[in-house]
Amino acid sequence: MYEFATKTHDIVGYSYNADIYCPDHIVAQITSNPGDVWHSAARIGAAEMHLDLCARIKGVNRSDEGSFDGGDFPKVIYAEHAVAPGPNGEEDAESRADRCAICDEFLLP
Ligand SMILES: [Zn+2]
Repeated sequence: MYEFATKTHDIVGYSYNADIYCPDHIVAQITSNPGDVWHSAARIGAAEMHLDLCARIKGVNRSDEGSFDGGDFPKVIYAEHAVAPGPNGEEDAESRADRCAICDEFLLP
């Protein structure tokens, strides 16, 4: 999860091709050559930088999410729209919470 997500407009993850990914794992989903960029300590910044570059190459307008399909290019998940696992860690709430398809980390604490 993104431990510094404190505001509702913070980016906590991405939806892509019917799955959900954390910032660490979204970049590897859209490129076969992720390089070193996504290993940076600045996880969100690195993911965003890389996605912006990929969008430019693919001709995707990221600022207008209605203009592209979530199966073709990742869409941003903001903290206000992500589902948290719930305060008590109940199994029910946990199964509904948004988590990364690769590492299984919750997007929200
Ligand atoms: Zn992940």
